[in-house]
Amino acid sequence: MDFSFTDEQRALSDKVKAFADDTVARHAALDDRERTFWSGFFAELGRAGLTGLMIAEEHGGSGLGAVEAGIAVEQLARAEATACYPVVNAALIGGIIGRSGTPRQQAEWLPAVAAGDAVVALVLTEPEHGTDAAAIELSAHRDDDGWVLTGTKTSIMLGMHATHGLVFARTSDDGARGVTAFYLPLNRDGIARERLDDLGVRAGGRATLRFAGVRASDDEIVGGVGEGFGGVMRGFDHSRALISVLAVANAQAAIDDALEYARERTSFGQVIGKHQGVAFPLVEHATRLHAARLLAFEALWRADAGLDHRVEANMAKWWACRAGVEAAHQALLTLGHRGWHDDHPASRRVRDAIGQEIADGTENATKLVVARKLLGREYAP
Ligand SMILES: Cc1cc2nc3c(=O)[nH]c(=O)nc-3n(C[C@H](O)[C@H](O)[C@H](O)COP(=O)(O)OP(=O)(O)OC[C@H]3O[C@@H](n4cnc5c(N)ncnc54)[C@H](O)[C@@H]3O)c2cc1C
Repeated sequence: MDFSFTDEQRALSDKVKAFADDTVARHAALDDRERTFWSGFFAELGRAGLTGLMIAEEHGGSGLGAVEAGIAVEQLARAEATACYPVVNAALIGGIIGRSGTPRQQAEWLPAVAAGDAVVALVLTEPEHGTDAAAIELSAHRDDDGWVLTGTKTSIMLGMHATHGLVFARTSDDGARGVTAFYLPLNRDGIARERLDDLGVRAGGRATLRFAGVRASDDEIVGGVGEGFGGVMRGFDHSRALISVLAVANAQAAIDDALEYARERTSFGQVIGKHQGVAFPLVEHATRLHAARLLAFEALWRADAGLDHRVEANMAKWWACRAGVEAAHQALLTLGHRGWHDDHPASRRVRDAIGQEIADGTENATKLVVARKLLGREYAP
């Protein structure tokens, strides 16, 4: 058994850390305040190779694996959790197109995703259907000229920034088998976007997207009519592990700040780290984050090895996100009134941590997946 990264993986981690420290971290507070990314952010991500990590070399990416995507997300999240979303989306949607797209679609679409020229959004959730994604209602009707999409999507991360969306639409009444995925430019006639003002992950520009008779062609269908749902659910196993890494790294950065503070701040004649009531909670949260990180990377490693990783990824998702919220909260308390102030990253890290508990599936949604595996479908909720 070997828990270490390879030399190449360590080099990638160092490279992304340098990019995150030099370029991303200094924008994080302003991004959060202004509720958008600094101008040039997406192009810089593309130039740094972070949106093409898992895209094949022949399509302009690096052809790396899920573990490498995790390594990149880990370093970015320490600087700014929200900055990871374009990387996670490119890995998830690039993966779906890479697996289910035709050679022509891959050649046409993937180079732009890898370069950061196409910013991609996963357009699945609707006002009335989130966890029960197989019940989505946005309709795609066929006529002589192609498809016409009508309905509303909401809670779409990067919704205000994205140039393209993988849009899930109902093409028949046959439950999950009636869902079809379309890859569409989001500046197409008939699409209107509206920003959602959120507690955290503010620069991400989560949005509602309204589709009023939007035209689409057969060539824009990914994976065939009625094949949309399976593709995204397979992709979620992997993206849930990436979100777990994100949640751990965001919280670990908060704990690191708290540890540093505990070495400097004094009360009752000694540094506060000398009080067990300060030191031990930090130890407990560091322990939980360490365990969650190992589980998340195990899921990514299994994905790269071609092994079933559904249970590990879903276990990691609920555990890491909950551990992340609790750790970030404790870090803020350790920092006292300084942590509560907007000028300190601690409050942003708590708010961003909570968002991860809902994004990509809630705690209950992930436990449903695990319960069905552990108990067997007929004995599980
Ligand atoms: C930061 C963030 C980013 C997001 N990004 C995207 C994105 O890019 N694209 C996208 O399409 N969506 C996105 N979402 C939406 C997200 O995927 C949904 O919010 C999530 O799947 C839950 O759906 P819902 O909010 O409609 O809750 P609901 O499904 O209505 O659930 C409400 C509550 O009931 C619980 N619940 C529901 N069904 C069950 C059940 N069977 N058993 C037990 N409990 C249940 C849930 O756990 C939840 O606590 C994002 C959300 C957030 C907060």
